[in-house]
Amino acid sequence: MCNKWGIGNLFATRGEKIKGHLELPTLGEKLPTFLINGSREGPSVLVMGGIHGCEYTSIDAALKIGALLDPKRMKGKVVVLPIANPSSFYARSIYVHPKDQKNLNRMFPGDQHGTDAERLAYWLNEMVFKKVDYVIDLHGGDMIESLVPFTIYHVTENERVLKISKEMASRFDIKYVIGSDGQVPGSTYSCAAEQGIPAIIAEAGQQGILSKEQSQMLQEGVQNILILLGVLEGNVSNIDSTYLTVFEWYRSDLQCLWYPEIEIGDQVEEGQLLGQLADEFGDTIRKIYSNSSGIVLFLVSSLAINKNDPLLAVGA
Ligand SMILES: [Zn+2]
Repeated sequence: MCNKWGIGNLFATRGEKIKGHLELPTLGEKLPTFLINGSREGPSVLVMGGIHGCEYTSIDAALKIGALLDPKRMKGKVVVLPIANPSSFYARSIYVHPKDQKNLNRMFPGDQHGTDAERLAYWLNEMVFKKVDYVIDLHGGDMIESLVPFTIYHVTENERVLKISKEMASRFDIKYVIGSDGQVPGSTYSCAAEQGIPAIIAEAGQQGILSKEQSQMLQEGVQNILILLGVLEGNVSNIDSTYLTVFEWYRSDLQCLWYPEIEIGDQVEEGQLLGQLADEFGDTIRKIYSNSSGIVLFLVSSLAINKNDPLLAVGA
């Protein structure tokens, strides 16, 4: 019988919680990590924040989860990575890794011999995802994004993974739950799900502001999932979720100025004007119309837009 549980260079014995830095091969990065090894047998769960370095509310929520979990009151094991992408965090880099300008949440399962973001994705998948039974990845609106809280699960052909992921995504006090079938390739939750690991993303908070209220909401949602999975004891009240199957992103195909005509959380109709792209003299280059009827789930609030930047997404 082995009472020791380890991820990389870090170990926790049965009933122990440790804090330390996880060393990743070929990257100079060390990820702050909580390893909490419950006093009784049970499933293993990863809770992650900071895949995008400026989503502070979700980073704070992961940190608080790491701090509050008590191994004496737990079955199973939880690993918490609150700052999963330290280079982006300290560079205050929006969307992308500062060294290669790649979006870490499009790189999974990564490449052992690739660029920084590709290697970070590779080692996170190899060293952490593959060691756990469930993945919870916390996000929010980036520095230049406003956002209505929502959760996402991957629509996979694996019925067990699909069912559990959807249940996990429905455990937050968040109205909108999206079943996404690969509109956002290379992301944490779809990579985990395709490997047979139920996984979700929860998004709350926005625009580089740490919201204590929204952080608390994320923490409670994670605890509700841990109850669902049998790691914690307790009761979960039913949450009235609205399930969305369309997650339509709008992007700019050029460098320009962005003038939205709608607000975050608005219900929009098919054919409705969503916003205008303008040149540096303020003249309209293009008008963006909605392809579907639904809810504006995130909206870029930056006037400056680069080629291929997202502008907004509508859930329906
Ligand atoms: Zn994010």
